[in-house]
Amino acid sequence: MIVWTVANQKGGVGKTTTTVALAGLLAEQGKRVLCIDTDPHASLTYYFGFDSEELTHSVFDVFSAGKDVNRELMRQCILPTEFDNLNIMPATMALATLDRKLGTQGGMGLVLKKGLASVADEYDYVLIDVPPVLGVLMVNALACCNRVLIPVQTEFLALKGLDRMMRTLMLIQKSRGEERPYTIIPTLYDKRTNASLQTYKKLVGRYGKSVWNGMIPIDTKFRDASNEQTPPSLYAPKSRGVLAYQSLLIHLQQMERR
Ligand code: ADP
Ligand code: MG
Repeated sequence: MIVWTVANQKGGVGKTTTTVALAGLLAEQGKRVLCIDTDPHASLTYYFGFDSEELTHSVFDVFSAGKDVNRELMRQCILPTEFDNLNIMPATMALATLDRKLGTQGGMGLVLKKGLASVADEYDYVLIDVPPVLGVLMVNALACCNRVLIPVQTEFLALKGLDRMMRTLMLIQKSRGEERPYTIIPTLYDKRTNASLQTYKKLVGRYGKSVWNGMIPIDTKFRDASNEQTPPSLYAPKSRGVLAYQSLLIHLQQMERR
């Protein structure tokens, strides 16, 4: 089981889109995929047609169980989507209260890791969509993954947000004492603007080989796919955006084989 966490402490950079796009492509490869929505806004949950206000089980139950999380509970909180090989553990609004509820309890950082270990034989890939807030959800998602995927919008202000994310990542790596590989993914690339190219160059200058050597272009098909509640690769398989995610996926899978 390979776990990828999609994180950036900035909103609107393409985290949810990246999660859905990669999940859809992996499912089409015949991989058994689990998406986990840890964002209280529940965009990913809505994407797959679930109303987070009507759900009886969600990621929230997993965190409420804390160290007692087990396979049975994990299974209870996972829903099949309409699409083959694609399951989701949805988010509910209650997640927003988690930090207040659990903030002071020790040992909460490895709940998701323990939960995922209990269903490890049921999935090939797990993709975790993370809220742009440093809290117990992000700490958990960063602690249990093989790689962190960091979508960065290619515009001038993006680098500031990225610095913050990188500091968080380093902090967590330090406290856990283990390396967490990461890949920076330039998103919302607009080839007509100077800002996109300049930002891309700055990213490579600063983060070198950790930056994927491609970019996800602005493509209106993503919004259409989201309106249709369908993974982009099924909605518009030949679109520029989907082709870009396809080559990103090939790159990421090569990295995992190393
Ligand atoms: P985040 O999860 O980081 O907040 P989203 O993935 O929800 O970001 O993206 C924010 C908005 O931008 C959404 O409306 C989404 O459809 C749109 N979007 C994301 N990536 C692209 C893209 N490559 N081209 C066009 N629109 C995009
Ligand atoms: Mg999102």
